Amino acid sequence: MASALTEKLSRLVKQIRGQARITEANVQDMLREVRMALLEADVALPVVRDFIARVKDKALGQEVVGSLTPGQALVGIIHRELAATMGEGVADVNLATQPPAVILMAGLQGAGKTTTTAKLAKWLIERRRKKVLTVSGDVYRPAAIEQLRTVTRQAGAEWFPSSPDQKPLEIARAALDHARRHYFDVLIVDTAGRLAIDEAMMQEIRALHAELKPVETLFVVDAMQGQDAVNTARAFKEALPLTGIVLTKLDGDSRGGAALSVRAVTGAPIKFAGVSEKIDGLELFDAERHAGRILGMGDIVALVEQVTAGVDLQQAQKLAAKVKSGGFDLEDFLEQIRQMKKMGGLSSLLDKLPAQLAAKAGEADLDRAERDLRRKEGIICAMTPEERRHPEIIKASRKRRIAAGAGVQVQEVNRLLKEFEQMQAMMKKMKGGGLMKWMKRLGG
Ligand code: GDP
Repeated sequence: MASALTEKLSRLVKQIRGQARITEANVQDMLREVRMALLEADVALPVVRDFIARVKDKALGQEVVGSLTPGQALVGIIHRELAATMGEGVADVNLATQPPAVILMAGLQGAGKTTTTAKLAKWLIERRRKKVLTVSGDVYRPAAIEQLRTVTRQAGAEWFPSSPDQKPLEIARAALDHARRHYFDVLIVDTAGRLAIDEAMMQEIRALHAELKPVETLFVVDAMQGQDAVNTARAFKEALPLTGIVLTKLDGDSRGGAALSVRAVTGAPIKFAGVSEKIDGLELFDAERHAGRILGMGDIVALVEQVTAGVDLQQAQKLAAKVKSGGFDLEDFLEQIRQMKKMGGLSSLLDKLPAQLAAKAGEADLDRAERDLRRKEGIICAMTPEERRHPEIIKASRKRRIAAGAGVQVQEVNRLLKEFEQMQAMMKKMKGGGLMKWMKRLGG
């Protein structure tokens, strides 16, 4: 999602990451920036205030204390709070009722109701193996009924006919009756929208709700609507007990803030995200992932957290001191490999990277790298402690013994020693910088 909010926050995140120490003053500064970014992205003011207060509480409290790099910890807090503001975990659709389960679609004209009705039908057929019927209650726009018929056919679901001379309630009753008689699992009811909130429309959808007793009442809203989305959401929430939100057009140049506000204003979970115009462009909404997208960095924050959580702080400081004094030896190299294993290995780290990066690394490369690491561990383990501390004493006969002990060729022992030498040289230059850089060296 290429949005203004994404850009602002990712720029900000880069700045924050560089901060070595978090003080009350720079937390204030950073949060002022975050607040501006959110407001500019059309997140509603009360939502922003609440969000900032929660982040501040955590930032000044326990959470950043003792963390390896407080700047990263703060980014982690922002990430978690963004996700929490938009929901918990991945939402799901509720069909737990005597079939047919009725899903009522509500929202303004142009929000994407009809498109989403068909996408949802397809999703339910494919992902939940359901028999799905759709019907349109939009008696004001014959074209809307026709549009639903077309997209329902594309979805492979069945369409129940309706016409402009019927009343919406009549249509609803007939469709429900048909769904019962023909053993449909789900009936999705598309409704009439207006360009703006309109009392007659609200009354109509309230009556439909009372008649159909839907198990899901989904409010469909265009993510590109910005502030207007908030007002619309509020009006629909007052008229109807919404059970979920569908955020459409997240693929577009959305300002991203709608997801934050709409959830906060309605209290209803965001269940689905529309991510393309196509019939299969619907996804279950994943708050965690969306927060990552807003921050513009995939799950890099989670990666950073995992790295910092897995590493023993004292151990890391000890290593940093050793590097500074030039005393980094194979014993420490071994310790690094073990730390990495403790964190779940390379593949678990790779899972957290943005898709493009992960794809670049590739499964095969990863397997090779993991195997390589294990072999290196084996070689170092075959050395005596003395040899680990002073690799320069390892001459030909010792190399042969080590290779035999580790079950590898002598060339591999040579390669490891050479790599280690280069690494030591590099570390001397780096003078204790970047844990991540060590990690990268280790994986290579
Ligand atoms: P309705 O008036 O609420 O029924 O809205 P429609 O379903 O007719 O959708 C309005 C427009 O938005 C159509 O051109 C759709 O193709 C488009 N649309 C709906 N959902 C999405 C989406 O998730 N992504 C994109 N790019 N376009 C969408």
